[in-house]
Parts: sequence; structure tokens; C-alpha cells
Amino acid sequence: MKKLLILVTAAVLAFAFFALDLNQYLTLDGMKASLGQFEARRAASPVGVGLAFFAVYVVATALSLPGAVILTLGAGALFGLGLGTLIVSFASSIGATLAFLASRYVLRDVIQRRFGSRLTAINDGMAKDGVLYLFTLRLIPIFPFFLVNLLMGLTPVKTLSYYWVSQLGMLAGTLVYVNAGTQLAQITSLSGILSPGLLLSFALLGVFPMLAKKFMNFLQSRRVYAKWQRPHTFDRNLVVIGGGAAGLVTSYIAAAVKAKVTLVEAHKMGGDCLNYGCVPSKALIKSARIANQMRHAENYGLSAIDPSFSFNKVMARVHEVIATVAPHDSVERYTELGVEVLQGYARIVDPWTVEIKLNSGATQRLTTRSIVIAAGARPFVPPLPGLDDVGYVTSDTLWDEFAKLDAPPARLVVLGGGPIGCELAQSFARLGSKVTQIEMAPRIMMREDIEVSDLARDALTRDGIDVLTSHKALRCEREGEHKFIVVEHQGVEKRIEFDALLCAVGRVARLQGYGLEALGIPTQRTVAVNDYLETLYPNIFAAGDVAGPYQFTHTAGHMAWYAAVNALFGDFKKFKVDYSVVPWATFIEPEVARVGLNEQDAKEKNIPYEVTKYGIDDLDRAIADGTAYGFVKVLTVPGKDRILGVTIVGEHAADLLAEFVLAMKHGLGLNKILGTIHTYPTLAEANKYVAGEWKRAHAPHKLLAWLARFHAWKRG
Ligand SMILES: Cc1cc2nc3c(=O)[nH]c(=O)nc-3n(C[C@H](O)[C@H](O)[C@H](O)COP(=O)(O)OP(=O)(O)OC[C@H]3O[C@@H](n4cnc5c(N)ncnc54)[C@H](O)[C@@H]3O)c2cc1C
Repeated sequence: MKKLLILVTAAVLAFAFFALDLNQYLTLDGMKASLGQFEARRAASPVGVGLAFFAVYVVATALSLPGAVILTLGAGALFGLGLGTLIVSFASSIGATLAFLASRYVLRDVIQRRFGSRLTAINDGMAKDGVLYLFTLRLIPIFPFFLVNLLMGLTPVKTLSYYWVSQLGMLAGTLVYVNAGTQLAQITSLSGILSPGLLLSFALLGVFPMLAKKFMNFLQSRRVYAKWQRPHTFDRNLVVIGGGAAGLVTSYIAAAVKAKVTLVEAHKMGGDCLNYGCVPSKALIKSARIANQMRHAENYGLSAIDPSFSFNKVMARVHEVIATVAPHDSVERYTELGVEVLQGYARIVDPWTVEIKLNSGATQRLTTRSIVIAAGARPFVPPLPGLDDVGYVTSDTLWDEFAKLDAPPARLVVLGGGPIGCELAQSFARLGSKVTQIEMAPRIMMREDIEVSDLARDALTRDGIDVLTSHKALRCEREGEHKFIVVEHQGVEKRIEFDALLCAVGRVARLQGYGLEALGIPTQRTVAVNDYLETLYPNIFAAGDVAGPYQFTHTAGHMAWYAAVNALFGDFKKFKVDYSVVPWATFIEPEVARVGLNEQDAKEKNIPYEVTKYGIDDLDRAIADGTAYGFVKVLTVPGKDRILGVTIVGEHAADLLAEFVLAMKHGLGLNKILGTIHTYPTLAEANKYVAGEWKRAHAPHKLLAWLARFHAWKRG
């Protein structure tokens, strides 16, 4: 209501201005013609006319009325250079700030809501450098005054900053115009007041602060190197520390563009994903899934059987899968690709030198122009009293430790209700362990919407897992051969006996022992990097789990491109890492996959959305496959088909998601998905059907009513 009032008041005042023909005074001829009259009034009442002029100037600029230049000339003619400049400088800044505030109050929320996350980069840029941009815009008077006010009102620039930067930035232009106004009679056109030379000087003045800032940044970045001796030549263009997803992709890209690159891996090529993460966990999930299908074979008209198997063989298959995938990440393959691979432990000695303690026992030092840290993360082990005494496995150790067992642990405690905890809990439960899953938070898979967490919990419970949420692990105890974990729930302690305990409460970046401390590279939970993945030292980059914010193989690979390209070509062009469309999945059954916002995120960020949902229980192929469960849930901009985020729960959810990832990445809406032929009968049709649901909900009802009449008329 208040916004409407502001708009109406502004419209009425603007209308009155034109209706009363006041614009006649705001032309060069008009101002010249009435100057005598104004001068007589000013002589009679200098203060009154000064204040009235000031007020008129403020109102005219606040309302974005045309004629600020004429008023400025008039100020020179009426009040002379000093007083005229003083009046105009304050009046124009106050008027500009009022216009800025009106735009902010009336339009900003609407615009931010309408364009949402697409404005994030602009908002961040304006919050950081908005003052500099404003100063430039103000100094160069070719940018329309009213437009600057209106547009700046939509940005996060602070009001006080807006005021003083405007006043400072406009001062030079004000002086020129007021000065010209003192000779008003001689001015025949406005265009001549600012000569090209003067305009150029203003432009130079305008860009000066930006250039100065760039120069200061340059000096600052040089300063961090001050205490180090830079080599004159370098052995390598790039040294990459860590041979996981991030390190492999970085070094591959470097070799592909013919840089001399060395990749150092201390342990196993392929890192976590191949050896302890994605690959073994998915291999285990497959065996567990088949065991589960055998148990429920009656769903397919077959006889259900309790699978009999050797757990050793299941674990042996996991290791076979790792071994089969391993050549993709091997020393041989990367050597063939043009990467020098050194097996040993790397330590950054100075910003251009890496020392490698080779596995052979020798030590090698390499100088390099750039370094990419891709040291990954390790499982976090909580400081639980008694934990070491009872013993535990993590994702790092379980593959070897459990491979020694003849049968899966009879009673397995899984600590942690995140994706890794859920995937492993379900797998071991399906392979016969009695699993108790302990999660401190009120639900498992906390990043997902409540309905997704609930579905996941139901699925795990159906597999026989005792899912204990809002349960805090307090300590572990041992009594002879018996091992217990003590948990607390609503103030009551409970003791759970177990045979094996798997710690899956998160993974922390590897930050110690390879030189970050000596170089003073800031870390919090991860290595601190800027948008270009540069650390404190602009020639040292970090990518993958060690830098976060995501901990996925595909984000590690994605970051690697930016790290490699910025490290090798950053002198010419740097690229900001783009996290705008990041998918991920949790490979339990039913699979959960997501890209972009879910409802919980949208509410937290105050982003308006519409939900369209399609139940996969209705899908022909899912019915035929016996996987008729789950849903595709799409969040869109209200009234538009633009996708804000998608959550899919169901068979092959992560594969189905790819279509939406592509759509979001390339700005394709639900109409485009609906207009695409999807093969029948496939699970992917669910994507088209959810788009169809959206279309039905947005059918043009009035037009359809007319069409019904048209058809009735045609029938006669
Ligand atoms: C059980 C589990 C399941 C997972 N499932 C999935 C999944 O399904 N999908 C998915 O996308 N992600 C999954 N992940 C996460 C994924 O494994 C990681 O995000 C990914 O491996 C990160 O790659 P990275 O290159 O950053 O680090 P890493 O793979 O950890 O590689 C870092 C490497 O650096 C080496 N290194 C460290 N310091 C030094 C040094 N000083 N000198 C030399 N070498 C050093 C380490 O030995 C290591 O090999 C899973 C993780 C786990 C634990």
C-alpha cells in the first residue's frame, strides 16, 4: 500500500510538472528568458530564493524529471560559482539519494524475487565493489543521472555510501556546469559545455579508482611473496598434489594443453573415490541389492529365497571392481597422457617449490610456476571416550578390514545419518547385519526435504535397520569381549551392544603436514580459496574436497578445470568457478537425486517457488519393473516454467536427474522438456510427465473456455 502511495505521489507530481508547463523553464532558452525575473527575486530575497531553488532541485532530481543540467546552469547564473556549486552539490546528492531510496523501496524486492539466484553474482559484485562502480558512473556525466539512481537502488549498495560517493563523484561535473552557467548568455547549446577533452579527463578520473584498486590488489598479492626468493626459471609449469579426482583432472588438462606437469600421489592413484569411496560403495550396494531382490523375488513371480553367500566373495568382488577401474586412474595411463607422475609425499617448501619424499626413499625438489593442492579429505572421527578401545572402521579402513571377515558383522552400529552412513547401513543390513544407525539430528539426510528424509527412513527401516534419530553418541564401553555404545535420547541413556562400529559422521579436509602452515595459507574447515580457486598465494590453487564447499567426485573434477586453466593461463584470463548448477545423489534404494533448490532451501533463502510433483507409481515402465515408487518434484519460479531445483526419489533417480541438470545449466524450462520426445517405455518419461503436470496446472482456462465455445459453434 505504501509502495503504491509513493508511486501515485510521484506520478501526480510529475503530471503536475508537465500540466503546469514548468518544463518551459528547464530548457536553455526558457532559463535564459526567465533569468532576469529570477535575478530580481533573488536580489529581493536571496535566502528565500536560494532555499526555494534548493528545494526545486531536490524535487526535480528525486522525481527524475528532465532538466537537471539546466538547473545546474541556472545555479551558476543566479548564485555564482561558489554558492551555485554548494547548492547544486547538496541538492543533487539529496535528490539522487531520494530517487535511489524510492527505487529500492518500490522495486528492489520485486526484482530480486523475480530474478532470484541469477542476481547473486551481481549482488556480490555490487556489495564488494559497488562504491567504485558508482564513483565511475557519477564522474562520467554521459550516464543518465536518473538511470543511475534507479538501477543503484536495486543493488545492495548502502544508502550512506550512495550519498557521499554521489556527492564526491558529481563534484567535478557540477563545477564545470555551474561555471558554464555563470556565462549563461554565451551558451548556445548544451552539447558544447563538455568538450571531448573534458569528457575524456572525466572518464580517466572515473576509471582511476578501479585501476588503483587493481594495482593495490597486485601490490598486495606481491607482498605475500616478499619474504620468498622467486626462482629465475622453473622446472615445471604446474605441480599437482594429490592423485584423486581433482588432481587427476587438473594434471590431465595441463598435459592436454602441453604444459609440463607433475602429479604427486602419496598413496593410491584414484584417491578416495576409486579406493575407499564411490567405487567400492557402489559395488557393495549392487551385491546388497541383488541379495535383497532374491529375498523379494516373489514380486516378480519367482520363488523368494534367502540368499546364501560368502561375504568374503562379496568383498573380493568389491576389490575386483576397484582393480578393474584402477587402470583409468593409473600411473601408466597418466604417463601416457603426458603427465609426469611421482609416487611420494609432497610438501610445499615455498610458493614455487615442492619437495617430494619419494616412496623409493629419495627426495626430489621441483620448482614450478603454479601449484594445485588436491589433497582431498579424510573421515572425521569424533572424540568419543572409549572409541579407540572398542575399535572402529571408517570408509578408509572398512574395505580391507571387512574383507578379512567370513560373514558381515552380526551387529553393526553405523554412526551418522548422512549419505555415506545411509548407503552403507542399507547395504550391510541387506547383506545380513543387524544394523543400528545413530544420528544426532532429528532426521537422516538432513539436507533433503522432510518428505525425502521420511521416505529414506521408511526404506531403511523396511530393510531392518533400527534408525535412531535425535540420538547423541556419548561414549563407548567394553566389557571383556562385549562392546557397547552409549547414546542419549531425550535425557535418557541407552546402551547398544555391537560387533563392529562404522564411523560415517563426515569427512574433513586434509590440511596438515604438507606446507600450508609454513606458508601461512589460511584454512578453516578447508583451504581458503577465492572465486578463482586461488589461495593466499595467487599461484597456489586448491580444488576438490580439500577446498570444498562440496565433497563429490564430479565437483572435484569441475573445480579441477578452473584450477588448471587459471593456474596456466590466469595471466591472460581468469575464470570464476561456477557452482550454479550442482547435482548430487544418495545411492540408497530408493535413490535420491537433487539439483538446485529444494523446498527447505527455498524457504531458508526466502525464494518464492511453485511445486510440481509427479508420482512415479503411475509410470508404465516403473510398474513393469516393479519399481513403482518415488516422485519427481520440480520447483519453478511462480507463473513461469523456469526450473529452480529438482528432487527425484526412485529407481535410477541420479540418471533421470541429468535431463534437469542440462535444462538448468542451459536455461531450458519445463515447456522445452515437455516438447521433447522421450522413449516409451522408460523411467525418463517421468521427467516429461512432471512437465505435463506443470502445464496442466498452468492451462489458459479462459482461452480454453473460448475454445469450447468455438468447437460447439463448429458442431452447429
Ligand atoms: C564411502 C564414500 C562414498 C562416496 N560416494 C560418492 C559418490 O557416490 N559420488 C560422488 O560424487 N562422491 C562420492 N564420494 C566422495 C568422493 O569420493 C570425493 O568427493 C572425491 O574423492 C574427492 O576427490 P579429491 O580429488 O578432492 O580428493 P581425494 O580423492 O581424497 O584425493 C586426494 C589424494 O591426495 C593424496 N594426498 C594428500 N596429501 C598428499 C601429499 N601431501 N602428497 C601427495 N599426495 C597427497 C591422497 O593420498 C589422496 O589420494 C564418496 C566418498 C566416500 C568416502
